[in-house]
Amino acid sequence: MLHPHEATDLSKPLIISAALTGSWPTKAQNPNLPVTEEEIAAAAVDAANAGAAIVHLHVRNEQEKVTCDPARYAKVRSLIRQSGCDVVINMSTGGGAGQTTDEQRAEPVDLRPEIASFDCGSTNFGAGVFVNSPSFLDGLADRMKRNGVLPEIECFEPGHVANALRFIAEGKIDPPWWFQFVLGVRGGAPGTMKQLMNMLDMLPEGANWSVCGIGRAQLPLGVAAMSMGGHVRTGLEDNLFYQKGVLAESNAQLVARLVRIAGEIGRPVATPDQAREILGLRPLEPVVP
Ligand code: ZN
Repeated sequence: MLHPHEATDLSKPLIISAALTGSWPTKAQNPNLPVTEEEIAAAAVDAANAGAAIVHLHVRNEQEKVTCDPARYAKVRSLIRQSGCDVVINMSTGGGAGQTTDEQRAEPVDLRPEIASFDCGSTNFGAGVFVNSPSFLDGLADRMKRNGVLPEIECFEPGHVANALRFIAEGKIDPPWWFQFVLGVRGGAPGTMKQLMNMLDMLPEGANWSVCGIGRAQLPLGVAAMSMGGHVRTGLEDNLFYQKGVLAESNAQLVARLVRIAGEIGRPVATPDQAREILGLRPLEPVVP
């Protein structure tokens, strides 16, 4: 993947993903977390204006609990598009352990988002277990392919990359592949450079990759990914803080910091259409009210 004597091409546009809400964070932990459809759409537009090419969405119910309700996802998307924002939309299929069924998790794929998350294996996750069985993943890969949705192959540990390689070898996930290394989850691979390097070494030739560091791993791993020619995810889903002891004001604030750092190291920031080109996504579709 990265050959030792190959210089990193820093002229490659940097795709910044903003993970706005997640399944688990609460307003009690950070009052700036967007949870209603209106708040999530507004946060998406702000993050896009700050430089995010992709927004990764979850939705919540009236009690602020995670849901996979396609109507809520559809509403967020139409609010974003109605505001004239062309950001790439990535819908989560993660759901919430014990709170959503496999079928519910897969339903948003039928909305044909440009990207949907594909959690490429099971892992302990905090105090719970995040189950992604082989049969669930088989069905999800097929459903994404039928709907023309790019799977964001989320890997929480190296075994998940090995699972992805099997899906690829079996023709269940087509190129160009889009990997998201989620590092620092309690139960998954630690958020360290060595873990990142190990997983990078496993990637197939030509794969696009991004890093999502959890909590205090978010910024250092993100900066490392940017410096190595990879892409980066930020946002309140993964980290509620701007710095130690200081809550983030918004998703856009976290995006804006990455844009500044990218400028300093000479990485241009990808527009949504540049991200579509890099990831082989279809052109933006008109708004369906
Ligand atoms: Zn997510």
